[in-house]
Amino acid sequence: MQYDVIVIGSGPGGYVAAIRAAQLGLKTACIEKYSTFGGTCLNVGCIPSKALLDSSEHYYNASHTFKTHGINLDNLSVDITQMMKRKTEVVGKNTSGITFLFKKNKIDSYQGVGSFKDKNTIVITKADGTTQEITGTNVIIATGSKPSSLPFIKIDKKRIITSTEALTLTEIPKHLILIGGGVIGLELGSVYARLGAKVSVIEFMDSIIPTMDKSLGKELQKVMQKQGVEFYLGHKVTGATVKGKEVTVTFDSPTGEKKELKGDYCLVAVGRIAYTDGLGLDKIGLAVEERGRKVTVNDHLETSVKGVYAIGDVIRGAMLAHKAEDEGTLVAETIAGQKPHINYNLIPGVVYTWPEVAAVGQTEEQLKDAGVKYKTGSFPFRASGRAVASGDLDGFVKVLADEATDEILGVHIIGPRAADMIAEAVLAMEFRASAEDVARTSHAHPTYTEAFREACLAATGNRAIHI
Ligand code: FAD
Ligand code: NAD
Repeated sequence: MQYDVIVIGSGPGGYVAAIRAAQLGLKTACIEKYSTFGGTCLNVGCIPSKALLDSSEHYYNASHTFKTHGINLDNLSVDITQMMKRKTEVVGKNTSGITFLFKKNKIDSYQGVGSFKDKNTIVITKADGTTQEITGTNVIIATGSKPSSLPFIKIDKKRIITSTEALTLTEIPKHLILIGGGVIGLELGSVYARLGAKVSVIEFMDSIIPTMDKSLGKELQKVMQKQGVEFYLGHKVTGATVKGKEVTVTFDSPTGEKKELKGDYCLVAVGRIAYTDGLGLDKIGLAVEERGRKVTVNDHLETSVKGVYAIGDVIRGAMLAHKAEDEGTLVAETIAGQKPHINYNLIPGVVYTWPEVAAVGQTEEQLKDAGVKYKTGSFPFRASGRAVASGDLDGFVKVLADEATDEILGVHIIGPRAADMIAEAVLAMEFRASAEDVARTSHAHPTYTEAFREACLAATGNRAIHI
């Protein structure tokens, strides 16, 4: 078979690239080694984790906050088997949705491992060992990433686990030890903490979610501590071993004091590395970068081999589904002769804890480092009528704007529905809005989004009304 575009990998990068290419009239194929489409995101990432976050949040509210709303429940219990069954059904609906979209867009799909024979020929090796070759004028590498570990820790996938296993536990841990206080650790830690597990987080840096604005990590830590999660910041893990059903994690405090924790599960969440195993990059003269094993691309996401592109987690930048999707669109449109563009500064980052954390643009630390003169406006949710009504009083919106021009440079939110609220900030910044522009825009009352407007009012001359 001869194609205009062959996409290897069907995650959010790959499937979006395939659909956009097909929409543009290009004859397109997508190769996926797993039995379902959707990659990490739909199968073992964004979607199942959010399904469990939603279920566990219902339980947490039922057991902790319903009473204050005048709702009394007796004999509340968690049915983890049903919770996991629902999660599997949610995943199934999403992955079969991609099958439907491929058919609708007349995309040929192939199940098997795709490997370069030359820059235009891909060999597909199926599960039964049989092979098939297809050729394409353009090839898009969208093979994603896999969990990374620490060299001295052996992940046995039973007691010392990655996010993949944490999404399919058959029991609620008694004591879950997390190595890494980043996005995965805090989201999956929240799931099990809400269901009643003791959760301990060991983080190497001096704050959780350390790449985000420092104020967010500080507030999130405070709220999660109230939920019962304990934190060891600035601590260095030195080992993790399993004996029967018990895991022992050893680590050093910032002053060099030796410590250990014993639990029944240890989740290693110290980042992910690009995945190119079995892809045969050497056959086309491509090497991966030493650090992170990433494929190198230029501004058009083309590798040094003409007609071979790479997108998503397998290349530089944030490992986020929406970033991969935007890159899939960009490459498909580039191949079709268009001139698309991605503003990498405006890709939002979200942590789906409760309260949610969401941010876009520059952090205060980045602005300080760059010597940019900026002004700040903050608004706490405890002063929002909507938040008082729902009982979600933790968190704030922080707006950073250029001191001279008032252009919004960064928005950092921790609070109820921050994940949805950040879209307004992204759009405002895409159109280079000033804090004054947002401050003068009508926001429905009572909504959480009013807090963004109030933070903009605070940034433009301390004019917030409700604080
Ligand atoms: P992937 O989704 O990893 O897909 C790559 C696909 O390529 C896989 O299906 C793989 O089987 C296939 N493949 C690999 N090699 C071959 C080959 N040789 N031949 C054929 N097929 C191959 N991001 C967010 O934005 N929001 C979230 O809420 C979020 N939550 C997450 C939660 C967890 C627990 C995890 C682990 C990740 C989460 N992410 C989230 C990150 C997100 O899942 C990734 O950024 C995204 O999936 C990357 O998309 P991709 O298309 O680059 O690669
Ligand atoms: P991460 O980079 O978010 O966090 C890893 C954390 O581990 C960091 O805080 C780091 O300082 C810490 N760490 C590293 N080495 C350590 C050590 N030796 N001891 C203790 N701590 C150590 O990575 P992650 O949480 O594994 O997530 C992987 C990727 O998946 C992320 O890039 C993220 O973008 C993506 N993801 C996104 C979402 C979302 O968008 N909501 C959710 C889950 C995952």
